[in-house]
Amino acid sequence: MHTDVLILGRGIAGAVLAETLRLRGLRVHVFDRKRPGNASMAAGGVVNPIVLRRDVPSWRAARLLPQARDFYTAWQQRLGITCWHQLPLVKVFPTPREVDQWQRAMNHADSAPFVHRHAEPEVDAAPISAPHGYGTVWPAAWLNVPALLEAQRQQLLASAMLTEVEVAPEEIVIAPDHVRIGELEARWLVRCEGPFAQLPGLVPVKGETLVVRIPDLHLTRMVHRGVFILPLGNALFRVGATFKWDDVFAGPTDEARTWLLERLHALVQCPVEVVEHTAGVRPAARDRRPLLGITGPSQAVFNGLGSRGVLLAPWCAQHLAAHLFDGAALDPEVDVARSF
Ligand SMILES: Cc1cc2nc3c(=O)[nH]c(=O)nc-3n(C[C@H](O)[C@H](O)[C@H](O)COP(=O)(O)OP(=O)(O)OC[C@H]3O[C@@H](n4cnc5c(N)ncnc54)[C@H](O)[C@@H]3O)c2cc1C
Repeated sequence: MHTDVLILGRGIAGAVLAETLRLRGLRVHVFDRKRPGNASMAAGGVVNPIVLRRDVPSWRAARLLPQARDFYTAWQQRLGITCWHQLPLVKVFPTPREVDQWQRAMNHADSAPFVHRHAEPEVDAAPISAPHGYGTVWPAAWLNVPALLEAQRQQLLASAMLTEVEVAPEEIVIAPDHVRIGELEARWLVRCEGPFAQLPGLVPVKGETLVVRIPDLHLTRMVHRGVFILPLGNALFRVGATFKWDDVFAGPTDEARTWLLERLHALVQCPVEVVEHTAGVRPAARDRRPLLGITGPSQAVFNGLGSRGVLLAPWCAQHLAAHLFDGAALDPEVDVARSF
């Protein structure tokens, strides 16, 4: 059986690439088995154009954010679901120094379109501790990644475009002009293996999150101070995330749970019940840029999405597709060749 592209791995990278290629009229087949520690099922899904430690725009945010919004809103319509939610993000200032930093960001041309200061009545009414005030990031959004992945999964399974198996290295047969896995042959194999890839320049970073029930917190905004609080509805909130560079596949730990709850209690003064605790591994690149491009005969890679995968994936998928199928040059900042 012949197809155009085989995709190995269907986290947000593989999923967005499969949809991007399908929209180009290409035939794709995806292989994926969700391994413990995969990034996308643990992801908060927050789409935030500002680096909150420094209050500067994240890499190419002005260009990536509208592209991501257009891509996911059109895709959710095709799937008949709602998974893209435009939500303001409220940054609670931990010290007076952050107030000044925010003010400077409001006066800077690059960050001004995203950082604002106005009353958030919902935050004022909530049991949230904000003695130094807060600022609002807008536009921002939340993508319900598991809901999107599940809707695409059903669609791909119905079209026989997804095989849910673990692919062993010896099952991948590479030739100069094609690649084969089992009975499927294609021009390209694109590896979207996330943190499981053996790729120079990839530095996996563990992250843990909690889902908590807070009946007394009525909030429809995302709030950040040390941790994110993301409203999921029905008094449920996702709280995260931690960053850890060793023992990344060890799963959820008591240490991270305590760390997250301490920060949550510093911010929200009311009873909290933990209902879920998840760990995942971010596929980060050493220089925090995506890793895209051709790695050998008939093989390419789409990785390095790090901690902003939702924002990055649509632009990266389009960029890689243009490189593979239109011969467009790769942007050197994302070219995987830099890490070899
Ligand atoms: C705790 C946490 C919170 C985060 N929060 C956010 C956030 O709020 N916003 C945001 O934008 N990003 C967030 N991220 C980052 C985001 O999750 C990642 O950037 C993104 O999910 C990476 O996706 P991926 O497809 O590259 O990897 P993955 O999601 O890990 O997907 C790789 C897939 O390939 C499969 N696979 C690998 N090898 C094989 C094989 N041989 N055979 C079959 N299947 C295989 C894996 O099992 C997996 O399903 C967070 C990450 C973590 C861990």
